[in-house]
Amino acid sequence: MMYFLLAIVSAKLFQVHLPYNYRIPTVNQTKNALTSCLGSDNVVLPIDNDYQRFASGERARVARKPAAIYFAQSEFDVIKAVNCSRQLGLTPIPRSGGHSYENLSSGDNALVIDLSNINYVRVFNVGKDEGLAFVGAGTRLGILYTEIYNQGGYNFNGGTCPSVGIAGLIGGGGYGTTARSKGLAADRTVGMRAILSNGTAVSISSTENPDLFWALRGGSSGSFAIVTRFAIKLFKTPVITMFTLKYDKIHSFGLLKNWISYFPTADPELTTKFNLMNNGSILQGQYNGPMRKLNAILKESGMVPESGIIMDVRTDKCDSLGAKSFMWTLSCKKVDILKVPPQLPLHEKEYGKYKMDYVSKYLSDDEISIIVEGINQSPSGSWIQIEALGGIFSKISNTDTPYNHRDSLFSMQYRVPLEKDEAPTSYKYEWIYHFERSIQGIVNGQHYQNYCDLDLGKDYGEKYFGKENFERLKRIKRSYDPLNVFRNPQSIPLQ
Ligand SMILES: Cc1cc2nc3c(=O)[nH]c(=O)nc-3n(C[C@H](O)[C@H](O)[C@H](O)COP(=O)(O)OP(=O)(O)OC[C@H]3O[C@@H](n4cnc5c(N)ncnc54)[C@H](O)[C@@H]3O)c2cc1C
Repeated sequence: MMYFLLAIVSAKLFQVHLPYNYRIPTVNQTKNALTSCLGSDNVVLPIDNDYQRFASGERARVARKPAAIYFAQSEFDVIKAVNCSRQLGLTPIPRSGGHSYENLSSGDNALVIDLSNINYVRVFNVGKDEGLAFVGAGTRLGILYTEIYNQGGYNFNGGTCPSVGIAGLIGGGGYGTTARSKGLAADRTVGMRAILSNGTAVSISSTENPDLFWALRGGSSGSFAIVTRFAIKLFKTPVITMFTLKYDKIHSFGLLKNWISYFPTADPELTTKFNLMNNGSILQGQYNGPMRKLNAILKESGMVPESGIIMDVRTDKCDSLGAKSFMWTLSCKKVDILKVPPQLPLHEKEYGKYKMDYVSKYLSDDEISIIVEGINQSPSGSWIQIEALGGIFSKISNTDTPYNHRDSLFSMQYRVPLEKDEAPTSYKYEWIYHFERSIQGIVNGQHYQNYCDLDLGKDYGEKYFGKENFERLKRIKRSYDPLNVFRNPQSIPLQ
């Protein structure tokens, strides 16, 4: 107990975080110290029934054991939580939607600062077809889309999954169904409020703390500050055509070949994803234009073969909210799917392994065969998801934001489903590692930070951000968080 008190006093005096080898206090000591420091008992500890539910986010393959989870309700709560973490020798780790593939929004001996109760959306009309929204950093995308639509018929270029949190999404970039015309979610983020590691609240924009503004739009979440609010630019999409085409397995090679040669340079108003599975493939997308034009585009692209289509749904009846639900339900009407609760139930946890690569060249037939053979040999439930860049991406420099992949042709994400505690030697793991090795001659060595992967090893920074951007991120880290208070296994290091 004496050591514990001494540690707290020295941390308070010298404003340092305690070393990794600091002796972890008992649960009761933590509870008493936390509740008295925070002035709140809104914490979940390892002895509590809800601990399993809240110790990790929704992607729970990597088990982590935080000292406690604190549900902040306001910016002031976040300030208290950052100060208390430092004083008690805990690592403060923010969590928004909890969808980090490697569970980076939790950590051993951490105070997880869960922002799911800071979930509000306030919309301001700023022009004929333009809006601005202030969004609480714990807001899930489904709620964001519902609110901006209800408050003025607006749209935003976030990701597809309704339960992903806005903070993680923008922190890593954010690619969605309007990405090729509107860019990343981070590209349309114009301001933030955030709490620094010394507990100070700051405003962030192109004119206030501009370095931080640059870093927080794609430059590794959880490294610099805890964002409490985003200001994002909204737009309207009055004419939308949504489509989903499902194909049999025999056509995968030809379709993949056609997709690669057409979609990375297609009309920027068109954003598609092409999913390969071991029993067929699916082309899905959004075209901000009329059905007649989309039909012509699909025909020209070679994605409407004479045989092999087992489902073809195209509709121009979706408004911008219906378009978000179409991606999951094939219906513009089932918008209730977007109404995600602030905290997800325990049974939603998922244990799959995800990997991704970028590709910056057109592929030979042999290279396309490697991908198709790879998916044909995959365990059931696996997929490879391919998404195009081009469009507006080719008009923005790789150094305008930390996202360094704008000149790639497409991204290729792949996933294998796993059981909880699946043995690392299982045939499912074996498949994903084998597939990764087989495509090394195809990919360009870059990776997307939002599809984080701890297998990238110590060079993860350059792989996510490129050398120049990574060096700049390290300089910003030294200036805003010199004691490395905000850290996780893939945060930006000081050196
Ligand atoms: C089902 C699913 C679908 C997805 N679809 C897409 C997609 O369409 N497009 C796309 O681009 N990505 C997509 N992703 C990837 C997703 O963008 C990332 O996993 C993202 O990091 C999740 O954000 P989150 O807030 O939910 O996660 P969290 O796990 O809460 O956070 C992720 C990281 O951000 C940090 N962080 C959280 N809150 C804050 C904050 N307030 N301030 C600073 N740092 C913070 C965390 O500490 C952690 O390091 C998807 C992921 C899943 C699981």
